[in-house]
Amino acid sequence: VDRVAETLTAEAARQLDEADPLRAFRARFRLPEGVVYLDGNSLGPLPRATPARLLDVAEREWGESLIAGWTAHRWIEAPARVGALIAPLVGACADELIVADSTSINLAKLVLAALALRPGRRVVLAEAGDFPTDRYMVEGLASLGLCVLRTVPREAVAEALDGETALLLLSHVHYRRSARHDMAALTAAAHAAGALTLWDVSHSAGAIEVNLAGAGADFATGCGYKYLNGGPGAPAFLFAARHHHDAIRQPLSGWMGHAAPFAFEDGYRPAPGMARFLAGTPPVLGLAALEEGVRLVAEAGIAALEAKSRLLSQALIACVEAAGAGHGLVLASPREPGARGSHVAFAHPHAHAICQALIAGGVIGDFRAPDVLRFGLAPAFLSFEDVRCAAATLARILDTRSWDRPAFHARKAVT
Ligand SMILES: *Cc1c(COP(=O)(O)O)cnc(C)c1O
Repeated sequence: VDRVAETLTAEAARQLDEADPLRAFRARFRLPEGVVYLDGNSLGPLPRATPARLLDVAEREWGESLIAGWTAHRWIEAPARVGALIAPLVGACADELIVADSTSINLAKLVLAALALRPGRRVVLAEAGDFPTDRYMVEGLASLGLCVLRTVPREAVAEALDGETALLLLSHVHYRRSARHDMAALTAAAHAAGALTLWDVSHSAGAIEVNLAGAGADFATGCGYKYLNGGPGAPAFLFAARHHHDAIRQPLSGWMGHAAPFAFEDGYRPAPGMARFLAGTPPVLGLAALEEGVRLVAEAGIAALEAKSRLLSQALIACVEAAGAGHGLVLASPREPGARGSHVAFAHPHAHAICQALIAGGVIGDFRAPDVLRFGLAPAFLSFEDVRCAAATLARILDTRSWDRPAFHARKAVT
């Protein structure tokens, strides 16, 4: 415990918190007493405004307006409205982003749209070891004969681009190690090879700066329930660069993506712009919750969030390395803040049990198989005192080997 105090004293943490321009945002989340929540990168905490908003949408809007709510309460506009709120967080224009479905479904729609823009090319190039759903979805499309999935190690991605590559599919920030790709450089390399790019920004959006327009990215998608605080199973978002809009065809062509959904025409005609990515009816309750979550992050501003994320993660690395000294805990993330996202990973052969012991001690991080302990540093609500406290708890667990109890070795269905 002293090892942590030598790195960051309680007084130093207090001073850092006092100097934090985002300190007022913490009170706008509901965080349980006695818990340090280092898992905002997996499920953002509940914004205090969200329960009242959900109750209002249910009781007043739905309960009183019934079906008139679609226009009276602008439910029909929610996918584009919430998309416009997310856009500046990822360097997109308001009309380049829309909210729909899950990240997995959006990936399929965007991969299919990209393939249609590159006739004669069939390869979707992805990174081995990246977040699985991205590759699983492409495997499914490949099973229909629509494309071929090619995965290569991270270091080999740029050189694997060739004249057969239709699409380069990558996570901006790696879900496990937190390594950040150079989006602009890889997008340029893909374009030089005649390929398009699809970026999964699930582990970046709302925590670090993403500049889709600046990088020249073609397509992107990301998650609503992580740093955007939209709640469990919140709808996801998708982005397409405006210069592609008129040419885009995506075959999950449901009625909400039709140019005139309520004309009930026999044939499909795509809606203008991003609306053609909608398939079915928007999830109004989920969108309302997401809007509240995004509003907080948008108000904080992405530049201030990334600046704080860097300071928090530097403090966490220093404190956890002090806590783990002599216990075999190894930093598994890049040390340079600009090369990382907003979470930090450490490897340890008993990472799972240590994670369980931490949770029992009020420090919620997560475990990613086989040996990674992840600490998410959501900058909108965490404090430097949280970081100090988490590291002190970790030091106690490691020093006493309290993680080595049978209860902490049992695996749950969701980690
Ligand atoms: C969390 C996450 C997803 C989530 O996909 P869903 O279909 O929304 O469950 C997708 N990709 C990455 C990289 C993620 O981190």
